[in-house]
Amino acid sequence: MAIQTINPATNDIIRTFDPHTTAEVVQKLEAASAAFHSWKKTGFEKRSELMLQCADILENEAEKYGRIVTLEMGKPLQDSIAEVKKCAKVCRYYAEHAAGFLQDEEVESGASRSLIAYEPLGVVLAVMPWNFPFWQVFRFLAPALMAGNVGVLKHASNVPQCALAIEEIIHKASFPKGVFHTLLVESKAVDAIIESKYVKAVTLTGSEGAGSKVAEKAGSEIKKTVLELGGSDPFIVLEDADLEAAATTAVKSRMVNTGQSCIAAKRFILVEGIADEFLEKMKEKMLALKTGNPLTDNCDYGPMARKDLAEELEKQVQESVEKGAKVILEGGREGKDSAYFKPMIIQDPKPGSPAYDDELFGPVAIVFVVKDEAEAIEIANDHRYGLAGTVWTSDRERGLRVARQVETGAMFINAMVASTPEMPFGGIKKSGYGRELSYIGIREFTNQKSIWMG
Ligand code: NDP
Repeated sequence: MAIQTINPATNDIIRTFDPHTTAEVVQKLEAASAAFHSWKKTGFEKRSELMLQCADILENEAEKYGRIVTLEMGKPLQDSIAEVKKCAKVCRYYAEHAAGFLQDEEVESGASRSLIAYEPLGVVLAVMPWNFPFWQVFRFLAPALMAGNVGVLKHASNVPQCALAIEEIIHKASFPKGVFHTLLVESKAVDAIIESKYVKAVTLTGSEGAGSKVAEKAGSEIKKTVLELGGSDPFIVLEDADLEAAATTAVKSRMVNTGQSCIAAKRFILVEGIADEFLEKMKEKMLALKTGNPLTDNCDYGPMARKDLAEELEKQVQESVEKGAKVILEGGREGKDSAYFKPMIIQDPKPGSPAYDDELFGPVAIVFVVKDEAEAIEIANDHRYGLAGTVWTSDRERGLRVARQVETGAMFINAMVASTPEMPFGGIKKSGYGRELSYIGIREFTNQKSIWMG
């Protein structure tokens, strides 16, 4: 894919970038590796000071950076600004807690003294997606830098200006030269970067296909990976749920980022007693959403991030309907050259169709009506992804019981799935492995070293 800013609201090509040459990439990797040797010796106090400066820049200039996000991938400006501000939060979180999370742990053993030390690994490559082009990067970068690692970023080809803006922010925050580089490269250049002796580990957020390729290469080089891939999160509504709150959250969760979120609720699993009433509410709330130009209009949702993504979603819906899914809220693409896609609800897709088996990465809700809690759990688990999920019930113990039986990396009871610095984030099954955020995320890219004294 060409490295280009294309405004998805208008299809205008705003700017095209030449990829970095192989020599430029090697030079940046060398510089990153050289920077690591002094950065790893910098104390937590200094790292925190710089990370807090970074947080201030993100907060004070959220509108400027938010505009770049909206221009490149189409989310409403107020959401882009909120995303940039959320990055400030993760910077502050790790500035405050990294030293505690990584302090030596004394262990009782047969030794006169034994401890676990958390040491940085070196240059970590981050392959990142366009859907939350700031948040996905900072969620990796803040803990990585605080742990004493250094980062190189291969961002998605449709958000190059976001990638460069992040580099600018790190420089403005006065981090030493070399601790973070943006590599403007296409995905075909990634294998060689993984092979480089300077790169010690890789994190990828994106599709299952990209994750599998990158992990295969990293595996052949014996380099650690963390993968955050797709999801088709279940949203279970039981008969004792607060239907108004559940329907409001259902629509918000399905429509966040025009449906392009790995942790968006995608499969709505409703027990039969409440299904009709819930669906009426859901339809009404979806129809009330406003779209428009995400840069200038105060809209609820913008276009999808690229025309080809809208095209792909349209095909997935068509195939699912041909194979038996019912359309219960009409919507879809607004024209064959458009990245705009009106929300849809489809019901009872059949196994073997994309709506049942795959991920619909856009504003299409998939509904299943089931007879009881047990069948709801069965449908929820009948998927190759296992990222997160939600259950709605007025009985908290019942919610917990259901949550424990759903095969995902996270379950939310009577609340919308979202990532937050304090809680680990990541999936099981084909949604990936490893965790970001919390004390667990910062330890992923460390050498968890056992030290034994005889
Ligand atoms: P991709 O997974 O293709 O892109 C994510 C990142 O991986 C980009 O930086 C991309 O670079 C890179 N990449 C892609 N293929 C390779 C490869 N073979 N080797 C190395 N790097 C690679 O996502 P798309 O943009 O194509 O979106 C398609 C689907 O991916 C969506 O419909 C959705 O299902 C899923 N997705 C999931 C996300 C999540 O948050 N879990 C986020 C985004 C997408 P480049 O842009 O240059 O191709």
